[in-house]
Amino acid sequence: MKNLSNIVSDLIEAAMKHEQYRGKECINMIASEGLKSPAVCQMLDMSHDLSTRYAEGENDSGGHVKKRYYQGQKYMSEIEDYAADAIKSLFRTTWADVRLISGTHANTATFKGLALASKNNKMVVTPLSCGAHISHDYTGLAGSILGLVNINHVYDVNEFNIDPEKSAQIIRSTKPGIVTFGGSLFLFPHPIKELRAVCDEVGAYVAYDAAHVLGLIAGNQFQDPLREGADFITASTHKTFPGPQGGVIMGIPDTAAKEKAVRKIQHAVFPLTASSTHLGRLPALGIACLEMKAFGQELAAQIVKNAQTAGQYLYENGVKVVAECKGFTRSHQLALDIRSFGDGNKIAQDLEDANIILNKNLLPYDDQSDKENPAGLRVGFQDVTRHGMREGDIKHLCDLMLDIITGKRTPQQVQVAVVALKKEFSSVKYGFQNVEEALKYANA
Ligand SMILES: *Cc1c(COP(=O)(O)O)cnc(C)c1O
Repeated sequence: MKNLSNIVSDLIEAAMKHEQYRGKECINMIASEGLKSPAVCQMLDMSHDLSTRYAEGENDSGGHVKKRYYQGQKYMSEIEDYAADAIKSLFRTTWADVRLISGTHANTATFKGLALASKNNKMVVTPLSCGAHISHDYTGLAGSILGLVNINHVYDVNEFNIDPEKSAQIIRSTKPGIVTFGGSLFLFPHPIKELRAVCDEVGAYVAYDAAHVLGLIAGNQFQDPLREGADFITASTHKTFPGPQGGVIMGIPDTAAKEKAVRKIQHAVFPLTASSTHLGRLPALGIACLEMKAFGQELAAQIVKNAQTAGQYLYENGVKVVAECKGFTRSHQLALDIRSFGDGNKIAQDLEDANIILNKNLLPYDDQSDKENPAGLRVGFQDVTRHGMREGDIKHLCDLMLDIITGKRTPQQVQVAVVALKKEFSSVKYGFQNVEEALKYANA
């Protein structure tokens, strides 16, 4: 075992190498990662005192601070209130909770709160194999920590979506307290509208997990869950929504049932699952909200266009892109079935060796017990889009990917071109370059 000094100097060196490697030399296509603007980064840098402070207490029905247990909070309470208001304003809601440390934390509080409010521990979820997040599943948070009983939506593998008629039957016959939508492999808007009435029939709350697509929703490009019938949205603030790492819950509690749910969810945040809520990220979250107001529509539209362009181009060049008959995707993601070229694990590794970073992914029709050899790759376009790539650049990037997937060139041969491409697209578009610029926009 090395001594502590050696460990820490190695640690610092690894941290610096990471920043260079993933930040400067790799093309990042992990679908669950975001890209913060210089202004958001600067605001985080300006919030170090805030990051050391403790805030815990209770909030009111608008998501504002109602009660604190410590002194010294006068600006901290304002900061939390303003951050909640920024989210509420951007997403046109009347309630938001910004205390969540991650999307999983948002799901923890929401699922717990809704189970308490409905006095019902049955929850309908998308099958894990069809794109749900592990936190929805009985093997994860929902079952193993919260003790919820999972009932699966019926998933139509040809449509790559929930089957609304068959899921309606399931909801009607099982009478859950919660019905969820949203997921991690998430290509097409989920049928909330089609299922809202049957959820009402059985008295189920509808929760929409927008972790992946929050930025697309902010840019008005995917679906509008609250207007389509969802009671609550849970999300991460760092995937397509390009804020600091964190979580959020929001809703429009305009009925007694939803007001009750808000109180239960708030109770599930504090005191059940959080003490201090890491306020240092909140001013930066506000800036990300303003960026999405200013540039979100343009950014989200280009992200989807780039994903669709890549789908078409890869398909034309012999890659089986999932959901071809549906136009490949309406989100920031593509799912590739690369079985005919090798297993997903090997090809993801070859792409990594060429500095193209994405992840292997089980597809709905894969053998779910063989996690090491999936047929799929999941590819996200939010990062490259925010770096300024448009359709022509995306095709060039696809050519580099195709060289690896088809084995035409070795990863080492392709890597040089990838690093050069990253250098060409190193700035961050659709955002503010510093806090001053954000303020200028805010005050214009
Ligand atoms: C990523 C993800 C989460 C978890 O978010 P974290 O912020 O990583 O905890 C929850 N739900 C879905 C659908 C996700 O994809």
